[in-house]
Amino acid sequence: MINFDYTDASDLDDAIRDGAMSGAKFIAGGTTLIDLMKLGVENPSRVVDLNTLRRRDSSLTAVTDLTNGGLRLGALAHMSDVAWDARVKERYPLVSQALLLAASGQVRNMATMAGNVLQRTRCPYFRDTATACNKREPGSGCSALHGINRSHAILGTSDKCIATHPSDLAVALAALDATVNVRGTSGARTIRFADLHTLPGQHPARETTLHAGDVITSIDIPNLPFARKSMYLKVRDRASFAFALAAAAVALDVQNGMIRDARVGLGGIATKPWRSREAERALTNKPATRPTFVGAANAALANAATHKDNAFKVELAKRTLVRALTEVSS
Ligand code: SF4
Repeated sequence: MINFDYTDASDLDDAIRDGAMSGAKFIAGGTTLIDLMKLGVENPSRVVDLNTLRRRDSSLTAVTDLTNGGLRLGALAHMSDVAWDARVKERYPLVSQALLLAASGQVRNMATMAGNVLQRTRCPYFRDTATACNKREPGSGCSALHGINRSHAILGTSDKCIATHPSDLAVALAALDATVNVRGTSGARTIRFADLHTLPGQHPARETTLHAGDVITSIDIPNLPFARKSMYLKVRDRASFAFALAAAAVALDVQNGMIRDARVGLGGIATKPWRSREAERALTNKPATRPTFVGAANAALANAATHKDNAFKVELAKRTLVRALTEVSS
């Protein structure tokens, strides 16, 4: 049992002010925070509830056309509502697929867009307060380095943390070069999606570039006509309600058999939503053929660093990417 203060934020200014207080945490869908509070991993001194605000301000839940041809996704929109939006399905199928392949129907009906991209790792040691974990308790050590690390990352790791980022949606948004609109104590600002999450480095407890009190208000996806031919392919231990062992978010612009442009995101294998510029370079201005796809997969995984139980992910990730590229180009 932990004691905490509760604030029902009635407007954005209230939310920002209360969210900036020491030890405060926001709650929207509650599908991550409540779990972690029950486990004793999160111990907020104040919980700032965004649901009244969600009901009052429709811009926080809407999917809106941008004048440049892109889409704005309200940060407090439920995953299921965005997944089934006709414009998302038609213009960015990889986003719709990433959402529908995540979690369960019940969770998708509660969880929000911002909550999804900010969800915390599923590393079992992070969720077990009896074990050492630098992310949960800085300086305590990393139990996964020499423990059971089958689900852990092979890209973007450090000697302090090898936890995998769990979000499917975030991988699709990274591939699409999305931007995140934020309101905080010093006003509004925009963060490139690639700059939202940080690598663990020496400080794995810090996961994003957000500041205390920052509220994500929306996520913008730029106009990208060739994303109409895109997909999110997720490989996991069971067909539902499981996190990715490897995933690929891909979009290809193929003209006359040649790849003119490419987007590649990788999930389930990296410490943050992973955009593979190496794979994109290996694809661009090349024929859309299997040897090209294999070359891109090799480039994407060239810097993989494995541990005792997760070497299989190198080959699995390569095959996942090759299959996604093959399907999207056919
Ligand atoms: Fe903690 Fe990261 Fe190590 Fe997992 S991998 S135990 S989250 S420090």
